[in-house]
Amino acid sequence: MTQFMIDQGSMGALPQESHYCSATTLFADIGKMLADNGLEPSPANYELIHRYFTADDAQLITAVDDAIRQYGTLTQAMAATIAAQRRTDISAVELSRMADDAQRRLQSISAIADRSGREAQEYGDALARNVSSLEAEPRSDAIIALMDLTRSMIEKTRSASDELRRASEQVSILRNSLAEARKTAETDALTGLPNRRALDLRMRLAFDAARARGTPLALAICDIDAFKAVNDQHGHQLGDKVIKFMAGALSRNASENLYVARYGGEEFVMLFEDTTPEAAAEHIDSIRAEIAAREFKVAETGRPIGRLTFSAGIAAMDGRKGPSATLKSADAALYRAKRDGRNCVRIAD
Ligand code: GH3
Ligand code: MG
Ligand code: MG
Repeated sequence: MTQFMIDQGSMGALPQESHYCSATTLFADIGKMLADNGLEPSPANYELIHRYFTADDAQLITAVDDAIRQYGTLTQAMAATIAAQRRTDISAVELSRMADDAQRRLQSISAIADRSGREAQEYGDALARNVSSLEAEPRSDAIIALMDLTRSMIEKTRSASDELRRASEQVSILRNSLAEARKTAETDALTGLPNRRALDLRMRLAFDAARARGTPLALAICDIDAFKAVNDQHGHQLGDKVIKFMAGALSRNASENLYVARYGGEEFVMLFEDTTPEAAAEHIDSIRAEIAAREFKVAETGRPIGRLTFSAGIAAMDGRKGPSATLKSADAALYRAKRDGRNCVRIAD
C-alpha cells in the first residue's frame, strides 16, 4: 500500500496591516501563520511569510491570499511555487543588473588593455632613447635611469595583471549566477522537473540532432487519469502529492536518451532520443503497469485513494514534422488512449 502524506491545519485570519512597529509582534505573526498552515519553519518558508507581512510586494501578497482562498491553507507546494515564481521574477531584475555589471567589467578590461599598450609603447620609446644615449656616451646616471624605467614598468605590468585577474574572477562569478538564474527559470517548482520552457528548447535541439544523425526520436504525452476526481475527493494538497509521485515514477529511469518534463497541470512529456515509438511505448507501459497494480491511501487518515493510473500517447518524429506537430500527433494518440478506457498507451498512426 502506498501512502501519501497530507498537510494539515487551516488558515488563521489574515492580518490587515503590513507595517510592523514591533519585531516581537511580527515574529509572533509569522510563527502563527506558519503553524496555522502546517508549514515547516524552514528558512525558505520563513522568508516567504516575512515578505508577505513586510515587503511592498503586491503580487506576492495576492498569490498567497489566492492560494489560501482556493485551497483553504497555504500548502507547502504552493508556498514553494510562489517563492520560486518570485525568485524567477527577481532574477529578471537580477539578470539585467548582472548584464550591466558584465558590461562595466568588460569596459574596465578594455581600458586596462589600452593603458598597458600605451605604457609598453612609452617604455619602448624611453628605452630606445636611453640605449642610444648610452651608446653615444656610457654614463652611470643613464644606467640608473634605465634601471628605474625597467622597475617601474615591471610594477605597472604587475598591477595591470592583478586588475585583469580580479575582473576575470568577477566575470566567472557572474557566469555562475546566470547559470543559477537560468536553472530556476527552467525548473518546475512542484516536481523539480524541467518545465515547458526548458522542454521547448530541448525538443528543438533533439529534433535537429536526430535529423542530422538520421536517428529515430519519439515524443510521449502522459496524462493522469481522472485527476480532477482526486482533487475533488481528497483536496489539492493531496493532488499535488500525486503529481509529484507521478513525476518521480516517470523520470526515475531518465537517461541521456530520455528527457522528462512537466508539460502542464497533470501532464508530462517524455522525449526519447534514438528510440523507436515501439520501444518508448514498452518503457512507458511498464511504468504504467507497475503503478496501476498498486493501491494508494492517505497516510494520516488511512482513507483509501484506490488506483492511480495514467494514459499516454506517443508519436515518432517524421521527416517534415517539427516538435509542435509531433506533440499534436502524440496528443491525438493520448485522446485515443482516453477514449479506449484510460490506463493504456497508444502510438499515433
Ligand atoms: P482525464 O482522465 O480525461 O485526463 O480527466 P482529468 O480529470 O484528469 O482531466 P481534467 O483536465 O478534467 O482535470 C485536470 C485537473 O488537474 C484540473 C485542474 O484543477 C487540476 N490541476 C492542474 N494543475 C494542478 C496542480 O498543480 N495541482 C493540483 N492539485 N491540481 C492541478
Ligand atoms: Mg490533462
Ligand atoms: Mg487527466
